[in-house]
Amino acid sequence: MAGIKTGTKFKEFNGGDAFSTIHKPGHKVTWSGIYKCKNCGWEITSNMHPEDDIFPPHNSSNPCKNAEWKLHVVTDTKGDSFASVT
Ligand SMILES: [Zn+2]
Repeated sequence: MAGIKTGTKFKEFNGGDAFSTIHKPGHKVTWSGIYKCKNCGWEITSNMHPEDDIFPPHNSSNPCKNAEWKLHVVTDTKGDSFASVT
């Protein structure tokens, strides 16, 4: 589970299927945010920026060999409370 500083505020966001879609390593990132592997619970951050938009495999320190990433927290990359994506 992602951690936050006490007092940090979040906004509920209806991202359609963004929170239910499973992504394999090599797939293109369509939402920037924190992703959790549905098989082991490890979390990563991934960005939809065109120069950095591919989901990674787990690194060698993780015994899970089947990374399947699911969006856990979407980030407000453009700082506009999602106005540019809704
Ligand atoms: Zn995993």
